[in-house]
Amino acid sequence: MGKALIIGCGGVASVAIHKCCQNSAVFEEICIASRTKSKCDALRDKLSGTTATKITTAQVDADDVNQLIALINEVKPDLVLNLALPYQDLTIMDACLATGVHYVDTANYECENTDDPAWRAVYEKRCAEKGFTAYFDYSWQWAYEEKYKEAGLTALLGTGFDPGVTSVFAAYALKHYFDEIHTIDILDCNGGDHGYPFATNFNPEINLREVSANGSYWENGHWVETEPMAIKREYDFPQVGKKDMYLLHHEEIESLAKNIPGVKRIRFFMTFGQSYLTHMKCLENVGMLSTTPISFQGQEIVPIQFLKALLPDPATLGPRTVGKTNIGCIFTGLKDGKEKTLYIYNVCDHQECYKEVGSQAISYTTGVPAMIGAMLVMNGQWRRPGVFNTEDFDPDPYMEALNQWGLPWVVCEDPELVD
Ligand code: NDP
Repeated sequence: MGKALIIGCGGVASVAIHKCCQNSAVFEEICIASRTKSKCDALRDKLSGTTATKITTAQVDADDVNQLIALINEVKPDLVLNLALPYQDLTIMDACLATGVHYVDTANYECENTDDPAWRAVYEKRCAEKGFTAYFDYSWQWAYEEKYKEAGLTALLGTGFDPGVTSVFAAYALKHYFDEIHTIDILDCNGGDHGYPFATNFNPEINLREVSANGSYWENGHWVETEPMAIKREYDFPQVGKKDMYLLHHEEIESLAKNIPGVKRIRFFMTFGQSYLTHMKCLENVGMLSTTPISFQGQEIVPIQFLKALLPDPATLGPRTVGKTNIGCIFTGLKDGKEKTLYIYNVCDHQECYKEVGSQAISYTTGVPAMIGAMLVMNGQWRRPGVFNTEDFDPDPYMEALNQWGLPWVVCEDPELVD
């Protein structure tokens, strides 16, 4: 059916690329382009001969719009799937606009240099106006709405698991089970164990920036912000068991608050073990999570980027990680005038993922929905001019594809609620 240019070749991209190659009827051709071309070549060599998808590779610095434009003009893809880092979202969106190509990603824009005065001014205004202090938000990418509309192009934002599948679960619940959704609790549980004292399951820099930040939730039309990890609950996750989970700020809260009419409260919880939290606090206390460059022996280094170099590469955790993830949403609301509750979730087994695509479940649960989002834009089912989140489209084809491509989901109409 078409050709995709996939930018980035890390943990998530590796899974998405495996899945595109399983789906060669849609992804007839892919070009894998990243900063380090050798990683793209290694993946191409691993997959060639196992798939009908034609794979080419390229080197690109996705911070550079002109390089991106030149690459897109050379490859001539139908869409670009951005699986690099959130820092590159805007340059890649600009390049797609300049070349007339659809855009898909899994995480909203975040500024790499949070000390940049121009960015800081916009950020501080937003903190004051909106009431949450996360470094990432949708305003930067939603601002492309008119440009994408005029160009007749689709930008699909945040088609990972959370965001991505969680928002599709919300759209599906609203379409099939509720007249009104009043509360949404998004629960992200990783019951896996990789055996290291400390490692992150996806890009350490992005992950640690996210979990060390203030928590926040949406309630009655505004944000409520908390100290990091200030709200803790225990939950008994189906197929995983009891885990401690903590309230975090998370990007889909912002889009669901805008897109689910009448929603009164949206919270996001993620499970962490005590050892992870103690390590993180210690690293934070000594300044290792800082994004501000320091001078070290005549060289400028960013502490969190140096830490990333020390920590295990998330892409190597696959063989050692055992256990399961359970990610889903609990909804409460009304149907036919009666109160209703619903829990939709997926359970994923780290070792099963490893056997299938050579990655642990965190990369798997993000890479599969990235392929699905790209597929639905490519085949026209989710193609409309403008900038969209996953809850903006008909959830049914996406839900069907989750079952088909390795992330089957469960609907439970009598779940334990989170107080
Ligand atoms: P990795 O760090 O494993 O991979 C990132 C890739 O992007 C690497 O191949 C890296 O190249 C490449 N890259 C980074 N900067 C550039 C650049 N300037 N130009 C070209 N390539 C570049 O990250 P993950 O795979 O863990 O995460 C990928 C994305 O998925 C992130 O945006 C993350 O936030 C998102 N994500 C979303 C989730 C969701 O559920 N929605 C969950 C988990 C992740 P190099 O190899 O040279 O470093």
